[in-house]
Amino acid sequence: MERIAVIFLGPPGGGKGTQAKLLAKKYGYRHISTGDILREAVRKGTELGKLAKSYMDKGELVPDDVMIGLIEEVLKEDDRSVIMDGFPRTLPQAEAFDDLLNRTKIELLGAVLIDVPDEEIIRRLSARRVCPKCGAVYNMIYSPPKNDEICDNCGTKLIQRDDDKPETIKRRLEVYRRDTEPLVGYYRKKGKLFTVNGVGSIEEITGRIVEVLGL
Ligand code: AMP
Repeated sequence: MERIAVIFLGPPGGGKGTQAKLLAKKYGYRHISTGDILREAVRKGTELGKLAKSYMDKGELVPDDVMIGLIEEVLKEDDRSVIMDGFPRTLPQAEAFDDLLNRTKIELLGAVLIDVPDEEIIRRLSARRVCPKCGAVYNMIYSPPKNDEICDNCGTKLIQRDDDKPETIKRRLEVYRRDTEPLVGYYRKKGKLFTVNGVGSIEEITGRIVEVLGL
C-alpha cells in the first residue's frame, strides 16, 4: 500500500491534535505531534528536551534544523502513513519536508487548514487541561472530564500546559501568524490545500476533514 502524509495546519488550539488523533485511529495512520514529542523530551530531560524547553516556555519555535532532523528520524521508525500535527510550522520546514517526502516516496495527500476565529482560539486554549500522566486532552467548556479536573482514563489531577497561560497564548498566536500562516499559500499554490471550518462539534469537524480528503 502506498505511504501517504496528511498535514494539519491551523492556529494553536484550533483542534489539530484532537482531529489528528481521531483520524489516525480511524485509518491506522501514525499520529506525529511534534509538540507531544518535545514535551516528552522535556519530561525525560534529554538533550533535545533541554534545548527545546526555553523556546517552548516563551511560546517561540524550536530552531528549524533541530525540528527537521527530528522528523527525519521519526519517519524512519516505521512505514505507516502519517498525520502531521504541528510540523511543518515554517517555510524552511515545509521545503525540507517536501524534499524528505520525495526521498522517502511518501505522497502528500493534502494539508488541511482548520479554520477557527481568534476569539474562539483564546477561549479554547484557556479552557484546555491535560493529563500529566497519560497525555489525554480535555476542554473544560466543550469536552470536560466526568469528574472535576480529574482524568477519565487514569484518575490523575489535570493540569494546564505552561504555554496555555494568557501571556504565552498571545505570543504563540503572533508566532503562528508570522511563521506558520505563510504555509497556507505555500500548499495552496501546490493545489494541496483543503480548508475546513473548525467551528462545530468534534464529530462534525472530523466529517468535514474526511470529506475534503476523500478518505
Ligand atoms: P504544540 O503542542 O504543537 O502547540 O507545540 C508546542 C510548542 O512546541 C510550540 O509552541 C513550539 O515551541 C514547539 N514546537 C512544536 N512543533 C514545532 C515545530 N514544528 N517547529 C518549531 N517548534 C515547534
